[in-house]
Amino acid sequence: MGVVPPRQVAVLSVANYDDICAEAGSESGKAIVAALREFAVSCGVDPGHMRRFEDNTLLLRLDALPREEFLSAIGRMIVGAHDLALPSHIPPTCPQPKVRVGAMSERALRSFVNDAAADLLAYMDHMDCSAVFLAGDELDIWQSLEATGIEFLSHEQLKRMDPFTGLLKVERFVALLQEVLDHLDEFGDDVKLLYFDIDDFKSFNRAFDHDEGDKLLLHVAHEIRHEFPTDIAAHLSVDRFAVLTNSRDVVRKCAAIHERVREFRETFAPEVKCGIFELEPAIGNAHVAIDCAKRACEHTKGRYDIVCHFFDADLKERLFIRRYVARNAELAIHEHWIKTYAQPVISTESGDLCHFEALARWDDPKRGLLSPAMFIPTLEDAHLIHKLDMCVLADVCKYLSECRQTGRPYVSASVNLSRLDFELCDAVSAVKDACARWQIPHELVAIEVTESALDEKNMLRHEMDRLRENGFEVWMDDFGCGYSSLNLLKDYEFDVLKVDMEFLRDMEGNERSKTIVASVISMAQSLGIRTLVEGVETTTQRSFLRDIGCDMMQGYLFGKPRPLGDDLLE
Ligand code: C2E
Ligand code: MG
Ligand code: MG
Repeated sequence: MGVVPPRQVAVLSVANYDDICAEAGSESGKAIVAALREFAVSCGVDPGHMRRFEDNTLLLRLDALPREEFLSAIGRMIVGAHDLALPSHIPPTCPQPKVRVGAMSERALRSFVNDAAADLLAYMDHMDCSAVFLAGDELDIWQSLEATGIEFLSHEQLKRMDPFTGLLKVERFVALLQEVLDHLDEFGDDVKLLYFDIDDFKSFNRAFDHDEGDKLLLHVAHEIRHEFPTDIAAHLSVDRFAVLTNSRDVVRKCAAIHERVREFRETFAPEVKCGIFELEPAIGNAHVAIDCAKRACEHTKGRYDIVCHFFDADLKERLFIRRYVARNAELAIHEHWIKTYAQPVISTESGDLCHFEALARWDDPKRGLLSPAMFIPTLEDAHLIHKLDMCVLADVCKYLSECRQTGRPYVSASVNLSRLDFELCDAVSAVKDACARWQIPHELVAIEVTESALDEKNMLRHEMDRLRENGFEVWMDDFGCGYSSLNLLKDYEFDVLKVDMEFLRDMEGNERSKTIVASVISMAQSLGIRTLVEGVETTTQRSFLRDIGCDMMQGYLFGKPRPLGDDLLE
């Protein structure tokens, strides 16, 4: 038993409480907070140590718990909060609650300015994270939680935040922005909201130290002030800043800030990027406006050629779809809008159909067919992806079972699983259960996981081993499109390597691409792994793959994804 931490406090909050009340009524909002309370009790919190802090927020005292129980209670809250069981009377249109969990020592809480918990929640909102742990003297406790990928920040750092940069605090900025939005006609039609973010500030902090990180933040604040001396500027959260301006010269100013911030360190040029949102009367809410500017800023991520980006019609449409998908995800699954499509996989040697890949489509009654790129990331964010994946799996099993019963010829299938599936549910058991239910032999089902799902920490190693021990094949999807493909080959055992279609894009006439694909195939062969190349569109590509001994091919040349049950080959 370790030391009992001094007076620990946790905050549980429904971040989208206002949305829920607007969509499903305030009774639903209240019922969800009541469910949250029960959930906290089930995590080991004494009901007597709990009080409602705001409409959407519960403050929990955890200090009565011994250290191990305290850690496990927090752990259970983080994991379970995403899957909060909702009271049955809540209407199906109700958005999925986004529960945030935060914790800190009461001492840290008290040393904050007023409304500390509200500060914390606002901070979490802006960091878009579900949990924040603030460490004071109890560093060792939090360090053991750090492994879970939770934001980690000293409360000292947080406490200094705004007096520290000299810019406005986030609450004040939001209030001012709201005022401007409410009277936009008086301010003219060219008011812009600028959202600045330092690319990969975490790496900078890691590469140097917190003092150096603080200096960089001060430098950014200084440069923003320098370019926008008379405008409203704020420090939103750790490495994010905002400006409200009617300057017509914002692009040049952003470029100037970017340039001077890059000069901060020679060996590690930090990049500060900016999203620009031109305020419009239709956006009535300050938080929505900030979100739009933030999305525009996200658009610049990983692009070295873009310093700033406007929130344009394309982003607007994407944001709309995102919201729409998030709000209707449960309904889509329930109402069978999610359809399973199948794309043929061809044996290179025989030219025959040998397998198919199941791919999800969202067949929306209002918006038509949506592609996975439009809904998979949102479902992952909403922690609903496992539900979709299990629907696709059930469809595949059902289809194979019908073929087997009616004597229709069939081939094995692969199903894509997301990394989160393994965290949100016992995916391996779910796959086994689906096969048992439809009496499908395990060798007929392969599981595709992408490289990005398997990080280098080997977190999913055990799950992948379990799949293979149970007779399922594990196929590595999109091989070569990330950074760690080769490392993963060292750490995991795969049955098939699916080479990313990007390799074929410029293959014709590019000898280097050909050499790379041929080497990947030959390396896989020497490791005893079968190979499949995706995105085959031309007969030249087909001949080349045949020549280099690739085992299987998939692509529009053989067939596009079609509704499961239709003939797979054109
Ligand atoms: P993926 O698993 O790599 O699937 C292959 C994607 O390439 C599919 O896109 C397919 O339609 C497309 N494709 C196949 N042949 C060609 C070709 O010759 N040319 C071109 N340009 N494209 C081709 P799709 O269906 O849009 O899926 C995109 C990604 O979404 C998938 O990539 C997969 O990572 C994910 N996804 C799809 N369905 C599911 C699902 O049920 N669950 C999960 N977790 N992810 C899914
Ligand atoms: Mg796939
Ligand atoms: Mg792929």
